[in-house]
This record gives sequence, C-alpha cells and structure tokens, in this order.
Amino acid sequence: MFQRTVRSPVRFQGPGLHTAGHHEICIKPARVDFGVVFRKFAKDGSFEDIHASWKNTKDLPLCTCISNDQVSHVRTIEHLMAALYACEIDNALIEVQGSEVPILDGSALPFVEAILQVGVEEQSAPRRVHVIEKTFEVTEANRFIKIEPGEDEGLYVDLTISLAKIGMLRWAGTLSPQLFRDEMAGARTFGRLRNGFLAKLTRFKKDPICLGANTRSALVIVGDKVINRGGLRMPDEYVRHRVLDLMGDLMLAGCRFQGRITAESTAHRLNHQLLRKIFSEQA
Ligand SMILES: [Zn+2]
Repeated sequence: MFQRTVRSPVRFQGPGLHTAGHHEICIKPARVDFGVVFRKFAKDGSFEDIHASWKNTKDLPLCTCISNDQVSHVRTIEHLMAALYACEIDNALIEVQGSEVPILDGSALPFVEAILQVGVEEQSAPRRVHVIEKTFEVTEANRFIKIEPGEDEGLYVDLTISLAKIGMLRWAGTLSPQLFRDEMAGARTFGRLRNGFLAKLTRFKKDPICLGANTRSALVIVGDKVINRGGLRMPDEYVRHRVLDLMGDLMLAGCRFQGRITAESTAHRLNHQLLRKIFSEQA
C-alpha cells in the first residue's frame, strides 16, 4: 500500500461546532512523508504550522484539539481526520482561517465526498503500518480502551457506548477505508438538548462549547429520540459516530494500525492517551 495525497485543493467553510462563527479550511496536496499539518493563519497573514500528531493534543472538552504552545490551537479536527482515513490520505497541508474545522453536517461525509470528487493521488513511498505486538490499555472510571495484537491483517474494532434512556449500543467488525466510507462516514455527532444550556454558560469564556450545535450540525437528542427532521440515518448512528471519532483520533498516530481494539464509552482524551502509551513505550 502506497501513501496518498489529494490531487488538488479542496475547500470547506462554515461554523464550528463549539465556536460557531465562520471558519475556512483548504486541504492541499503534500509530498511523501509530510503527514497531516494544519497551517493556521492569523488575521495579519502570518501563520503557524501544527502537526496533526498525538504529541500536540490539547485537552479541550468534546473535541480533538491540536496546539503547538497550548495557546493558539485548531479545534474539532476529528471528523476531517476520519475523512482522511476514509479517503486513504496520508499527506496533506490543511490551511485554516479561524480556530476550528467547520462542522458541516456533523459527520465526515461532506469531506469524503468532496475529496473523492477532486481525486486522490498515489505516491511513491509505502504507507506506514504499525503492528501491535502487546496490549495497551487506558481506563478512567467507567470508560476504557484497549489495543492488543490481532489475528488478521487490518484493524478490528469492538466499541460499546451506553446512552441514558437509549441503552447500550455496540459496533464490532474489521474496518477498511471502503467499509468506513460506506457505513461510518455519514454518522453524525450527537448531544442532548441540555448542551444548549452548556453553550449559554460558556458563551463568554475563552473556549466556549457547543455554540454551533443545532439540528443542522448534530443529532439533537430529547428523551430517547432525536428531534432532527428525518430522524437517524441508521438505527445505530450514535455508536457508528463514536467509531468515526476513534478512527479520526487514531490518524494522529501518522500510521495505520494492525491489531484489535476493544472500547467502552471511550472519549477523545482516552484515545489520545492510548496513542501516547503505545508510542512512549516504543521510544
Ligand atoms: Zn465526533
């Protein structure tokens, strides 16, 4: 398997899930072994580059955020990173005007469709695959994620979540970019209507949350149902979105994994910690 990049630039714009406002990104082709780098522009035209790596995560709630210095950052990169997995992109320069990746419809599908439309180019070097040879686990209260050696090639994922009034949902299977495009990419992020109150509470804080959350950008749950017109895209859309989030986070490794993941109510923070464990033991 060879590394890949986008054939030509792809642009997106719109509000962010947490900051609302207006943000723009442009995904540009990049050379072999470049990885994924976010180039964040300031209003005066100056920029800084932030490598999409587990080394650069910043702990902000309900998203994956990367930062060089913990001050300037790019938020909510996970759905875009998941789309790069789906499209088998290894190398890309992502120019950002603003501080958050546009949320679009809350899934990875608009990114995937636009990238596939411009096309993907195979490059001259092989893709890095990391074969898991021992078990790594991160646990926090009722959440955990574990990766262990797998029997087959590729990555097997068994992920369970438990939602109040909805119950337990589980997805398990061997992931491939094709299956991910067909069955995961369209699953939208979700939250309860009470997150609207959280948004109000954090409105004037430096890092507000959920200001851009509404039925255009997320599944909004009331009781045991969503209030979005048209309802769910698939009966287990919530757990499929969690698989999407996980794959987006794993892209911060800069390689693909061969192994077996078991996770229960995992969160971005735990996913980042898992990568830290895998690679710090390597060093
Ligand atoms: Zn998400």
